[in-house]
Amino acid sequence: MSAVLVWLRRDLRLADNPALAEAAARHDTVIPVYIHAPEEEAPWGPGGAQRWWLDRSLRALAADLAAAGAPLTVRRGPSGDALAALAAETGATAVHWNRLYEPAVVARDRGIKERLREAGLIVQSFNAALLVEPWQVATGQGTPYRVFTPFWKRLVADHDLPGAAAHDARPPAALPGPAAPPASEGVDDLGLLPAVRWYDGLEAAWHPGEAGARARLAVFAGEALAGYDAGREHPGVAGTSALSPHLHFGEIGPRQVVAAVAADGAAATDGGEAFLRELGWREFAHHLLFHFPETPQRPLDRKFEAFPWRDPDAEAAAEAEAWRAGGSGVPLVDAAMRQLWATGWMHNRLRMVVASFWTKNLRLPWLDGARWFWDTLVDADLAANTLGWQWAGGCGADAAPYFRIFNPVRQGERFDPDGAFVSAWVPEVAALPAKHIHAPWQAPGSVLAAAGIELGRDYPRPVVDLKASREAALAAFQELRGG
Ligand code: FAD
Repeated sequence: MSAVLVWLRRDLRLADNPALAEAAARHDTVIPVYIHAPEEEAPWGPGGAQRWWLDRSLRALAADLAAAGAPLTVRRGPSGDALAALAAETGATAVHWNRLYEPAVVARDRGIKERLREAGLIVQSFNAALLVEPWQVATGQGTPYRVFTPFWKRLVADHDLPGAAAHDARPPAALPGPAAPPASEGVDDLGLLPAVRWYDGLEAAWHPGEAGARARLAVFAGEALAGYDAGREHPGVAGTSALSPHLHFGEIGPRQVVAAVAADGAAATDGGEAFLRELGWREFAHHLLFHFPETPQRPLDRKFEAFPWRDPDAEAAAEAEAWRAGGSGVPLVDAAMRQLWATGWMHNRLRMVVASFWTKNLRLPWLDGARWFWDTLVDADLAANTLGWQWAGGCGADAAPYFRIFNPVRQGERFDPDGAFVSAWVPEVAALPAKHIHAPWQAPGSVLAAAGIELGRDYPRPVVDLKASREAALAAFQELRGG
């Protein structure tokens, strides 16, 4: 008789879960464990929106595991102590987990692996989160990539992605749990939910858990994948997969997503190729985080450490607050920030727009903007968020040059031409004709009056002048470059 602990972290699924599959194949008793230890991920423990997701996802996982025969044991950290104690209590001789790539987690896991091995346990880790491990892609010189396109070309050339995805991803046929399950806390005891119930919008928008992830993938494959190439640019239509939080929590794995795209015969279509490339960005983000572990706090492009950000005075604080609250007076920015607050998610184009507004028009430090995303996004992911903010701030890998500044009015006119998205989130300006909806402050007085809008009363004037703030940002950039 042999028992194995399967330490589940952000791989909250039964299907395509190599740590679980190997455990079921090689041992008579499988003990799935979740350990609550947010302080071990500091300063990037889960934010508010993620704690809600985690609560819901753990409940779904616990139900699925119980139905399969191996109930989830929930413990509190320190993780190493909890695993050692559980091994002693249950007589488990092995511990399995799937790898994560955040620097604090990598360091923790290394320490735990050593400790458990010294105690005589067999410890095995697996890849469930990525198509290809960060160390399996390298330049001709053996160095990590810093630019996406050559990274992705290399990855696709060296790895048969549809082939690799076509493995048996079914959940283990049998999951024999222990006769007497170890003592466990309830998910309730973890206190993941806030005291004030602000998460109704999240409840309405999402279905956390493995079943929800599969359903989301099926809807996307059936309805939006074929038109993804063009549809993904428009925040007013459901043109993207919205799989990001499911992928982040490992409720579905990227190989399963690739397999679904390939099975649909879509991999070779424009929509399928464009979608796989986005999954490639996810791989690239992890590649960067793994090889440049300091980047969540420091720009990859070190010269930006000397960037002359705004002084953190009262005016800057008020403008930052207006940005967070969706009251900046720029409708596309406000619509996006309200979508984020209400649903915990924001369309990719809008993430670029609001991050550009923050780092350039407001000239506030990218890391402070990244922290707000961290607390509000259900998909907050250290690899992708760091890449996205440094890209937008012009200081990361493959960055948009700092001097390329998104104009939120032009972006609205191009990607929300009829103003449908803005109208949905900023009803104050919905009565304006599409021609003026993205820049109410430029609308003639008669148009504003006809729509019943008085700027400054019904909807704010922009907190910054877009043109002047753009010029100030460019001047700051010149200063950084030494004149
Ligand atoms: P789809 O278009 O359907 O793409 C499929 C999947 O590919 C996504 O679910 C995601 O896992 C991955 N992906 C797509 N684009 C990117 C990208 N640019 N970088 C990395 N992975 C990508 N994504 C996160 O998952 N978490 C974050 O915290 C995050 N923060 C961001 C911050 C900024 C400033 C920016 C510009 C982008 C950020 N992104 C982040 C990337 C991207 O915006 C989201 O992954 C995407 O909007 C999620 O929606 P979707 O699932 O419908 O994407």
